[in-house]
Amino acid sequence: MGMDVYGKKPKSDVGEYFRRNVWGWHPLWDYVENNHPEIAELVEYAHSNDGSGLGSRDSSKLAKLLVADLDSGKVAEYVAQRNLMLSELPFEVCNLCEGTGIRTDAIAVESGMPTKELAEDIAIIVGRTQGYCNGCNGIGKKEPFQTWYSLYEVDVEQFARFLAQSGGFEIC
Ligand SMILES: [Zn+2]
Repeated sequence: MGMDVYGKKPKSDVGEYFRRNVWGWHPLWDYVENNHPEIAELVEYAHSNDGSGLGSRDSSKLAKLLVADLDSGKVAEYVAQRNLMLSELPFEVCNLCEGTGIRTDAIAVESGMPTKELAEDIAIIVGRTQGYCNGCNGIGKKEPFQTWYSLYEVDVEQFARFLAQSGGFEIC
């Protein structure tokens, strides 16, 4: 599950291939969409494996823009803002135990979850010593799905290096 990005006319090894799984690719391309929409809009299906991409000229243009963003601190700022936004999202109710922290369906009963002893740290948080759910460790809530997607400066850096040497690219 992921995006394989192939250089059309690579000038070096770095420009041959770039890959991210879906959790890494979507936030990386979101960065491009948010900060360089005039280039992002040239890629028709950037969030799927349909072979969309950019030509040589636009790839190197995007590479230069990304390098400039890295140098100016724009990427670092974006990543920090993004992480802050994620940290402020409310937790979601766990769907396996419906928020109770104790999973009681047939599979859970079979593996002893309703009477399973809780780890000490969890027991202190939830105020009981047994009754478990493997979806939320017994807490009843879990991190929102958006936190599964991650973006680091190094992702932008590696993508820029690939773009500069790719001679254009296709997302497959
Ligand atoms: Zn649960």
